[in-house]
Amino acid sequence: MQTTDLITKTKNHFENTFNSKVEKMVLSPGRINILGEHIDYNDGFVLPAAIDKIICFAFEKNNSQKCKIIALDLDEEFEIDLTQEVQLEATVWTNYFRGIIQLLKSNGFVLEGFNCVFSSNIPVGSGLSSSAALECGFLFGINELFGLNIKPLDIALMGQKAEHWVGIHCGIMDQFASVMGRKDKVIKLDCTTLEYTYHDADFKDYVLVLFDSNVKHALMTSAYNQRRQECEEGLAIIKNHFAAVHTFRDCTLEQLLSLKTKMPEPVYKRCFFVIKEIDRVNKACEALDTGAITTLGELLFATHEGLSKEYEVSCDELDFLVATVKKNPAVVGARVMGGGFGGCTLNLIKKGSQDKIKEELSKAYLDQFGIELKIYDVKIGNGTSLHEL
Ligand code: ADP
Ligand code: MG
Repeated sequence: MQTTDLITKTKNHFENTFNSKVEKMVLSPGRINILGEHIDYNDGFVLPAAIDKIICFAFEKNNSQKCKIIALDLDEEFEIDLTQEVQLEATVWTNYFRGIIQLLKSNGFVLEGFNCVFSSNIPVGSGLSSSAALECGFLFGINELFGLNIKPLDIALMGQKAEHWVGIHCGIMDQFASVMGRKDKVIKLDCTTLEYTYHDADFKDYVLVLFDSNVKHALMTSAYNQRRQECEEGLAIIKNHFAAVHTFRDCTLEQLLSLKTKMPEPVYKRCFFVIKEIDRVNKACEALDTGAITTLGELLFATHEGLSKEYEVSCDELDFLVATVKKNPAVVGARVMGGGFGGCTLNLIKKGSQDKIKEELSKAYLDQFGIELKIYDVKIGNGTSLHEL
């Protein structure tokens, strides 16, 4: 659904349900990550951006101690009683909201009751961070409604904490991008220090398209933990041999090469990927700054190759999606986006060629795996913001 229709739908539903006007309306986006995969926990930078797919929230105070929240897309609702302790419940989606309220209360914010309706056009569970949009948009709205004066960066950090409360131990990238995103800019973010810079993201003759493999392999969590361990092991070996190296950022490829026989092969491959990926993020920023979109595209292909062969977090479906588009000169770059083992590929496609490519790829994917390909066009949009009514 188009965002303007989503806003109208949310507003109408709110007015019809509560028989009153919306007091505050908030738009909270999902996000993509252009480059910098698996290096948020390896001393690297990520390169995310907010997208033009959003969750729309409508709010009003209701002069009670109850928060009534309606999920329009699910046709479900629930209530939080502010006089009671907030706890995790069986209905998962409600916990993101409970998490925010619990966090506000434990930080000493005094709240009153309110009504909230929300609806979304962010694909759920496809790696576009609908969960971050949910937490951050909800908190942003409460902040506006009650004038709590919480700064944007703290909204992102509290959003992350709410997700931890729900039980998902995510990094900060998703919430940061959702809140701090800017139209036509990517954010170069150091996930460790939270230092960041914006870079122009003018893709010129190219458009961003996501192909959703529609698969999620169970390997994800165990592999993630294993990769983290392997990288720690590799870095410890590097530091033992080179006193000046403190993080992967300080380590050159030559230094790593000299230690090839001193570490298990998988550990060496993971470290190789990390050092190359850190370099690719820097190169991607240069490419964006100078408008070298085909160079950016080559970096995406190189990252996919690295994630597949060196970091080994791809799968047949994702490799197929990238290899197939790579044969088409209208696709200048593609890679798996996110943790791996499923989810979407991010593609940079020459304007005008995308329809044919979408059609051909859908058919080829269905023939090969018997799975329906999902497709999302994305543009880079603003971070969480108030929508003037
Ligand atoms: P992602 O963040 O990649 O979309 P997650 O599994 O982290 O995937 O978060 C998705 C969860 O967020 C859903 O299972 C649901 O609980 C909640 N959610 C997201 N969008 C909505 C929505 N429109 N309505 C209700 N719950 C939603
Ligand atoms: Mg999520």
